[in-house]
Amino acid sequence: MVNKVILLRYGEIHLKGKNRGIFENALLKNIESATFSVDGQAKVLKIGGRYVVFGFCQENSNLLVEKLTKVFGLVSLSVAYETENDAEKIIFAVQNFIKTVDFGSVKTFKAEVKRADKCFPVHSTDFEAEIGGVILDIFPNLKVKLSQPDLTVNIDIRENGKTYIFTNKIACAGGLPVGVSGKALVMLSGGIDSPVACYLMAKRGVQIAAIHFHSYPYTSKQAKEKVITLAKEVKDYCGKFKLYCVSFTKIQEEIHKNCKEGYMITIMRRIMMRICEKIALKEGYLAVVTGENLGQVASQTIESMTSTESVLNKIPVFRPVLTYDKLEIIEISKKIGTFETSILPYEDCCTVFLPKNPLIKPKIELVEKEEAKIDIEFLVEQAIKNLEIIEI
Ligand code: ATP
Ligand code: MG
Repeated sequence: MVNKVILLRYGEIHLKGKNRGIFENALLKNIESATFSVDGQAKVLKIGGRYVVFGFCQENSNLLVEKLTKVFGLVSLSVAYETENDAEKIIFAVQNFIKTVDFGSVKTFKAEVKRADKCFPVHSTDFEAEIGGVILDIFPNLKVKLSQPDLTVNIDIRENGKTYIFTNKIACAGGLPVGVSGKALVMLSGGIDSPVACYLMAKRGVQIAAIHFHSYPYTSKQAKEKVITLAKEVKDYCGKFKLYCVSFTKIQEEIHKNCKEGYMITIMRRIMMRICEKIALKEGYLAVVTGENLGQVASQTIESMTSTESVLNKIPVFRPVLTYDKLEIIEISKKIGTFETSILPYEDCCTVFLPKNPLIKPKIELVEKEEAKIDIEFLVEQAIKNLEIIEI
């Protein structure tokens, strides 16, 4: 009996002591949730430095591969045939396996045996020659080439009593397992940058939650739907998370009515930050994350960022795309599948009541003077009270 399984590899380089346990547990949990989202019957097993996904319905294997390549912490995977550590059974499995391989332009090959199970009686090189012969019996036009062949057939004989047969390795997302670096709250607008910020934070092991500010009815229902879609699109990378939706309408009206026009964006951003910090402290998020990018627009100067983040007392702001070129951000957004949604033309709340001449280098004393004209504490409390939480 030959089973198709998926072999998962992770980078172990810096894993020592307690870190290893935390890393491996988080990774296992994330592998399981990615796997179960596709196939409820699948099982995940840890075998010396690898994970094996097995027991799934064979039709699901492509979808499983697609999901698993997005699990941070994994370096590569292979779809493999699994059999027992028994020479005859291995040869039988190789014969079956080799018939499923797409040979395309393959002219040369080699068999590569790794014998982690030292009880296996045949030496690697002898077994390689034997398996090479088996393959040549089936495909006599192929040639054996030991250095840089077109195709390598790997036979991995492991200590758990199982042998895995596979050809190619598919690259996975790399990074650290989501959850090992704590939790952070990402400010998610409908643009290109903030979904990329979600992805980049998750890549370093941060469990994200997202917060979106909308100004319904000034902004449309579709604008909010768009953000929900974006959140779902980054879920394969970020895992399940909460999306906090905050109505910003009343706050914008109050600023518009009472404060000098040029301060609109600066004050809005500072109030957004205050709301983020309140929620973060209550829910255990350790940082606020934005998709801000230095110099991209008038509000993204160092001075603007200073003025925005100076309202935070206890947590930092992270800006993972601060130094990227727009084209680099777009490239990532295309790779992770958010670009097409991001460019849908719905208004963001920041474009409502947009001043003709926003302040580029706001002076904090002057900003504070304008802010004194509205009851910020009350507005923040109200906004948090009416918060809507969507489970992504
Ligand atoms: P993005 O492409 O992410 O929309 P942007 O280039 O449009 O960014 P801004 O609109 O200046 O830039 O916003 C900068 C950052 O502020 C966003 O990346 C996001 O993190 C945050 N932000 C802006 N608007 C909102 C909003 N309505 N809700 C939540 N966060 C927001
Ligand atoms: Mg935007």
